[in-house]
Amino acid sequence: MICSAFHAEPKYSSNNPARARIRLIRDPIRDVYVPVYAGDYAPAECAGRDKYTIAGKEYDECSFCRASCPSREEFKEPDSGLPLKCDMCEGEEEPLCVKWCTVDALVVEEREEEVEEQEEQEDLEVGLESLADKYGMDKILDAVARLSKKDE
Ligand code: SF4
Ligand code: SF4
Repeated sequence: MICSAFHAEPKYSSNNPARARIRLIRDPIRDVYVPVYAGDYAPAECAGRDKYTIAGKEYDECSFCRASCPSREEFKEPDSGLPLKCDMCEGEEEPLCVKWCTVDALVVEEREEEVEEQEEQEDLEVGLESLADKYGMDKILDAVARLSKKDE
């Protein structure tokens, strides 16, 4: 709830958990309940998926995967199909899903990672690629042409 409200336009104007960048990947039959926050867009499913055995139970890779991927509905904006990605609540002192988790199921730990300089450009390309996959490139180009005419 808090994730979708924080990312609403304008901020906090609405909430819809389907727009959240964190999900509980839940599969009671296989005893899978994992909170996963959204990572990068994957244009195709993995060919070979690893299996993990934890406490004698076997889980497949998708159970822990952060990707917005064609194999499932998680981490996609419900109306546009655009991939959703956690931005750690940019501008906030603490991730809001951690702050507002009243049962302390979520914690945040910092670790060092190299940051790609081209990330913003890549995010734009991922968004366009995902729109083109859903609606077709012709429709996207038509819409862009119509928008540019409007601006003239
Ligand atoms: S959800 Fe993740 S692990 Fe599963 S097919 Fe997609 S990218 Fe691969
Ligand atoms: S850290 Fe922020 S953006 Fe990421 S899942 Fe939590 S509430 Fe959403």
